[in-house]
Amino acid sequence: MRSTDAAEFESVAELMREATLLAVAARRELPAHAIVQKPDGSLVTAVDVALQVLILNELEQRFGARPVIAEEDADSIGGKEDAQAHCRALLRQWRPGLGDREIARALACGGLEGSTRDLDAVWVLDPIDGTQGYVDGDHWCPCLALLSRGEPVFAVNGHPSVLGGVLLVAERGSGCWSRPLKGGDAKRAMVSQAPLTPGEPMRLVAPARATASQIAARRSVGESIGHPCTLVHSDSQAKYAHVIAGLADVAYSRRGNGPGKYVWDHAGAVLLAREAGAWVGDTNEGEVDCSLGRRLGGNDAVICAARDLGPQVAATLAERDIAEGTSRNSAGHGERARHG
Ligand SMILES: [Mg+2]
Repeated sequence: MRSTDAAEFESVAELMREATLLAVAARRELPAHAIVQKPDGSLVTAVDVALQVLILNELEQRFGARPVIAEEDADSIGGKEDAQAHCRALLRQWRPGLGDREIARALACGGLEGSTRDLDAVWVLDPIDGTQGYVDGDHWCPCLALLSRGEPVFAVNGHPSVLGGVLLVAERGSGCWSRPLKGGDAKRAMVSQAPLTPGEPMRLVAPARATASQIAARRSVGESIGHPCTLVHSDSQAKYAHVIAGLADVAYSRRGNGPGKYVWDHAGAVLLAREAGAWVGDTNEGEVDCSLGRRLGGNDAVICAARDLGPQVAATLAERDIAEGTSRNSAGHGERARHG
């Protein structure tokens, strides 16, 4: 990307700040009929869809048509009349010009499939990452990244639940910047590189609704590297924001037996965390490859760590993948993870 893109990025950051605040306001009056299940059983709300429509329309108006990978599509609230009506009502309030035609377009345009390595600019959008947390009043975040030739080059995530509400913004090579959602000066976000002192607990992120086995697994990661483990509850890309903000030392997401994590749940945080100086990589210390399309099909895990803990956590999770028979990269190829 060219340095003259600074104005474009600032405009996108402001758009995401507005979108996050609109979602905060919409949460206060969210009727039960606006919360529905997708065909895959996951939760979605009329706000998720309305935000996607708002954000993609603004991006197209400001920067022209670009390929998009977005989470929501026509099936998200398709056939759910009450949820659709709530979505239309939100959009009338936010942008009176956005109607059924714009809704249909914004839900049809985010289905890009396949490698993005040959594309100069691809938006990756999750209008609300952590919809369960949004409904529960817990952690959630609107997340937008720009990929260039498959690599995140710009990211902006809105975090109403972190440090009283912050927007994290990063352009590749220019650091990660945190600004209050309510407005104010940006501060550079820098993760601590100071190693844990002997006996100091490692603060590790666990899901808010963690199962007993997820909790036990996380505690054993701390123990395996010789430290007690304190669990910090968070979900969605907000878990990585906790590391960036100094509220946790490590957050990770494992692929397990699945087909690979969705790119929109990680791409922005990969850049934000790296630009903040965190260690970001896979269990083999390789890069997180965001270029494969809708999923991170080439990675066993996304690990985000402060305080020089990345390689140790990576080794521990690699052993676990081998023990559980889910390792794909135990051969240890992969470009070495880049430190911030
Ligand atoms: Mg989402």
